[in-house]
Amino acid sequence: MFQTEYAQRVYEATAARAPWETEYLQAVREVLLSVEPVLAQNPDLEANAILERMVEPDRQIKFRVAWTDDQGTIQVNRGYRFEFNSAIGPYKGGIRFHESVNASILKFLGFEQVYKNALTGLWMGGAKGGSDFDPHGKSDAEVMRFCQAFMSELYRHIGPDTDVPAGDIGVGGREVGYLFGQYRRLRNEFSGVLTGKGLEFGGSLVRTEATGYGLGYYTQEVLRVLMNDSFQSKTVVVSGSGNVAIFAAEKATQLGGKVVTMSDSSGYVHDPEGIDLDLVKQIKLERRGRMSEYIAARPSATYVDGGKVWEVACDIALPCATQNEIEIDDAQSLIKSGVKIVAEGANMPTTPDAIDALRAAGVLFCPGKASNAGGVAVSGLEMAQDSQRVPWTFEQTDAKLQSIMTDIVACSLAAANKYGLGNDLFMGANIAGFERVAAAMLAQGVF
Ligand code: NDP
Repeated sequence: MFQTEYAQRVYEATAARAPWETEYLQAVREVLLSVEPVLAQNPDLEANAILERMVEPDRQIKFRVAWTDDQGTIQVNRGYRFEFNSAIGPYKGGIRFHESVNASILKFLGFEQVYKNALTGLWMGGAKGGSDFDPHGKSDAEVMRFCQAFMSELYRHIGPDTDVPAGDIGVGGREVGYLFGQYRRLRNEFSGVLTGKGLEFGGSLVRTEATGYGLGYYTQEVLRVLMNDSFQSKTVVVSGSGNVAIFAAEKATQLGGKVVTMSDSSGYVHDPEGIDLDLVKQIKLERRGRMSEYIAARPSATYVDGGKVWEVACDIALPCATQNEIEIDDAQSLIKSGVKIVAEGANMPTTPDAIDALRAAGVLFCPGKASNAGGVAVSGLEMAQDSQRVPWTFEQTDAKLQSIMTDIVACSLAAANKYGLGNDLFMGANIAGFERVAAAMLAQGVF
């Protein structure tokens, strides 16, 4: 599968070490395959064991999280932080609370984060953390006690110049608030140690919207540069109904598209008249409810229990729920319905064979590392505001986000062109991120 002996050897050694880490190996394989043209032209990368160092996290922290539920029963979960690479800045990456969380999933997310953060052009290394705690159905008090217990261990390992976590699946503003409060209490220090904070205590405007808005800006730029087109009058299919999905749908609508689906892990809503986002926000953000509640208020919509949004015909597909949600059958449905562009809002939502099928069919495929980098980009801007102790306006921050996303498109295309890969956004994004991190590692010596 690999063209270079070096990439093949490193992949095989990584797989031999932990063959059960399937998500992690999937992410490593994608990056190694993409950077082979760089390896072939730069033998110093192999001489300096750059790949071997990149696939091994700097540090892996695993810990017990014991907390008491509302019935007084002691519950025990597992907490993790994978600090992957800090060659270009403090470790940076979200925290995920979901029952599926394990070392393989967090390692894949941490590994991807390294190259994503490099693509933003800001000084941020890569990390990811989380727990197998399931916040669904938990009371506010239980979520608070869990967050406090989680931070009671994590606080030893993080800091505003060391490692700066943020939200991810199951970790939004409420959880970041509880985590930040506990850090402040334990350290007696008010600092920008987490991003995604409330606006009253060091948060940044646009952070909530950033991943979804950034996805919209990125997609708009790709449509403009590569297809001389726009969102105008396009049918857009969005999966998920969390933070990324809601604001991706909002930006796609603002840019002229018609979003016709949203989903959660139980099923999806299809509203041919266009999703009513105020209603979705009421259900998901205010009531923490389920997408199935949507149809009670919208006669134009149908709810498909257990279905996947990819069966609905569209021009633009924005997967914004979770990893591996577009499988080969879904890719084939999308191709059949005439999809023109798939832009990943979630991390690694498309399986490798689905990516191959989409690309072979001429669908423009935008890898999450690039297209969903808006969230961490505004987290980087939040760190800058925290250091200055000066908040920026919405317009200032949004304009900076937009320029970072268009720069990511440009630098991905430039990297692809440099290695004779035409306008390959997928290879280009991986190469551009990789080159920045590799250059910093080479400059800083062996460790
Ligand atoms: P949220 O927890 O806010 O929302 C997640 C959404 O995805 C929910 O609608 C959830 O439904 C659905 N979902 C989760 N797991 C599954 C599953 N196994 N099958 C089907 N649906 C599922 O998370 P975010 O919106 O923050 O994150 C979504 C994706 O975007 C993730 O891949 C994340 O890593 C990525 N991302 C997030 C960033 C951010 O800034 N938040 C930044 C960059 C990437 P349900 O409620 O039923 O679980």
